[in-house]
Amino acid sequence: MSRILFSGMVLITMANLSQAADPVFNDVVLGIHGGIGVDKKDMTPELEKDVRAGLRSALEAGHAKLKGGGTSLDAVEAAIRVMEDLPVFNAGKGAVFTNAGTNELDASIMEGKTKKAGAVAGVMTVKNPISGARAVMEKSKHVLLIGPGADAFAKQQGLEIVPPSYFSTEHRRKAIEEIWKREEEAKKRRSEAGDIPLELPKKKSEYGTVGAVSLDSAGNLAAGTSTGGMTNKMAGRVGDSPIIGAGTYADNDAAAISCTGHGEFFIRYSVSHEIVAQIKYRAVTAAAAADDVINRQLKDAGGEGAAIVLDRTGKFTSAYNSEGLYRGCITRDGKIHVHVYED
Ligand code: ASP
Repeated sequence: MSRILFSGMVLITMANLSQAADPVFNDVVLGIHGGIGVDKKDMTPELEKDVRAGLRSALEAGHAKLKGGGTSLDAVEAAIRVMEDLPVFNAGKGAVFTNAGTNELDASIMEGKTKKAGAVAGVMTVKNPISGARAVMEKSKHVLLIGPGADAFAKQQGLEIVPPSYFSTEHRRKAIEEIWKREEEAKKRRSEAGDIPLELPKKKSEYGTVGAVSLDSAGNLAAGTSTGGMTNKMAGRVGDSPIIGAGTYADNDAAAISCTGHGEFFIRYSVSHEIVAQIKYRAVTAAAAADDVINRQLKDAGGEGAAIVLDRTGKFTSAYNSEGLYRGCITRDGKIHVHVYED
């Protein structure tokens, strides 16, 4: 297909889209996100360059798997592993810190054909938690393993194990130290002003996660998500990313979904399953379902976040109620689209 004809098709699709927050791209085999990211005012040219380059290499890695005859699960795992290894994303190396100064990682993966799923939560030594999640799915009789048990299982499965300090990076360390400082100052102000509750300022760097959705040539969907969670989360806190039906879901009859945002809301609203359920039972498009859940239900509840959606026909879209979302997709013939804000 000629380039001009292809771009024309994308434009027509975008123009026809009325309900979604974002364009719909056709013939997509892999879509990814790298979290909500930072507000425009905090974005720097270097950061944007790193984010875009990271998204591109993740898309290329996943696409290479599919081209080599791999499954959607292979593509999801490969794309997420690339982002886990890049400190610019909040997953694997570069994960955010807990309130105890640890890096505790969550991940999950799901296959749309069999509804098999695997997840790990609170792991501290598995270099690529998404591979830990896949091992739980394929090599154990469980869906979710947590903490030291999950770390031990990953080791036993021969996955790469690293010391906990591997995940720590300078910029995440600085972010947590700033929050601790603000907390201390707020505590001081509170004691000076009696018991007036003082809200801590919210900073976008507290969010960010990676995820992927894929459709292979056999028509099978898969989804996966990996994160360090939210900055300053309580040690032991588990977010939505390893929860099937909240941060991740795949169903061959509807779509594959990966989410990012304030995890507590995504768990309470069963976001990824809710999107799939709307597609199946309300017979709405994937774009309309994602828009309803993210831009109406979650927004009304005060839950900030986003979802990427790939439906069973290869239509990819995303919905976000934040200022931006690091996201991208690659079509069957290898055309890459990468976006950070509404661009
Ligand atoms: N959803 C993740 C969590 O709550 C965080 C994120 O997406 O940035 O753990």
